[in-house]
Amino acid sequence: MKLHIQALVAIGLGIKRNWHIFAAIILGILFGAFLHKYSVNQSALNTKFYHYTLVGLNIVGQLFIRLIQMIVIPLVCSAIVVGISSIGDSKQIGKFGKKMILYYAIISVCAVGIGALLALGFHPGDGVQGFINQSSAVEIQAQVHSAIAQQQGHFSNVFLNLIPNNPIESLAKGDMISIIFFVLVFSFAIAKVGEIARPVVAFFESIFAATMKVTDWIMVFAAPGIFALTAYSVATFGINIFSGISKFFAVVIAGLIIQFFVIYPIIMKIFSKVPVMTLYTAITEALMVAFGTASSSATLPLTIACCEKRGISHKVCSFVLPLGATLNMDGTALFQTIAVIFLTQAYGVVLEPVQIISIMVLAFIASSTSAGIPGAGLITIALVLNGLGLTPQQLVEGFAFLFALERIADMLRTMINVASDAVVAAIIADNENEINYDLFNNPESYKDII
Ligand code: ASP
Repeated sequence: MKLHIQALVAIGLGIKRNWHIFAAIILGILFGAFLHKYSVNQSALNTKFYHYTLVGLNIVGQLFIRLIQMIVIPLVCSAIVVGISSIGDSKQIGKFGKKMILYYAIISVCAVGIGALLALGFHPGDGVQGFINQSSAVEIQAQVHSAIAQQQGHFSNVFLNLIPNNPIESLAKGDMISIIFFVLVFSFAIAKVGEIARPVVAFFESIFAATMKVTDWIMVFAAPGIFALTAYSVATFGINIFSGISKFFAVVIAGLIIQFFVIYPIIMKIFSKVPVMTLYTAITEALMVAFGTASSSATLPLTIACCEKRGISHKVCSFVLPLGATLNMDGTALFQTIAVIFLTQAYGVVLEPVQIISIMVLAFIASSTSAGIPGAGLITIALVLNGLGLTPQQLVEGFAFLFALERIADMLRTMINVASDAVVAAIIADNENEINYDLFNNPESYKDII
């Protein structure tokens, strides 16, 4: 069977197993679209109904997100400490690290390449300037100004911010990149000091086991949570796919589909013997939660659970997945590349080849600096938009336009971000004999939600 067909069948099987979560997404889209339409009808009764329904949906959705977010930090810390200390040997850690950087880089280079090719090939931005001007909601513009200003200061601090001044402060603020940096250094030290650190490792092993149990419990709320999140997003933002800029959205979706159904399967085939069917079936729950939450970080407990319960070793998952959820954002990079080229086309800026390459490189960097939270990739786009010859007014308009489409685009690119983390974890596990194929291929391990 062709690779992309295998991928499609795998997703079908995963959906069949989790039909209730899938049904929640579909019902959420339908109910959200109904509410959105309803809100256009401005009678007092309608407005009240719309308002209270939105409040209710928001509460249910936020409950679910908060429940998962609640365990992300204990989970990430314990997973990394246990994982690195179980790898022990610093040579093996180095090997994992190098492979991880290599595969994440290959996947992101493919993403920006596909983004650029599609945007340059299909010209989604041609002739839409008028539409962008009209659609730029005035109330968003102040927000946009501050986002652009914030990014200008942000770039120079990207590397400095890796190192926390005070790890406790980073933990309290949920600043994932610096938390991971600290925990990695701490875990290397634990691995080095050996026996004396055994109680600390045992402590984190218990925390890890407990957080995985909590993840199981939280998944009981997955269907109502995802229904509410999806319905809320569609109701507030609408589905603009059919509006005047449908070409832009179609190009983004095409890029994400190519990445998922063509690039990942090919990369898996070249670098490993991981069957794409099995991996995609294994991670479908995580992909659906990624869609609902639009957050790689919030999905991380699920991604780890899906991969570990189906045979990828803890050593690999605990190292590769938290780093991936924070640094590997290929879906975001692809979106940013298309969005920036789209805006330059809309404003008639002719791009030199070197500018196109610089957009791709900057999208790669900007996406890696995006946090795994909703909307992060849109804010860091300001880094890529700099210096392309757009006037400040055009920057603000363009940004405001992207804001209008943001939520649905974010939900889709987050699925891709999460999928690529699992793909890289599976390839590394295969290369390093860290995958239990008996478990991986055993239908029994796919029976539960996670
Ligand atoms: N929401 C995305 C994620 O969490 C990041 C982005 O905004 O692109 O992976």
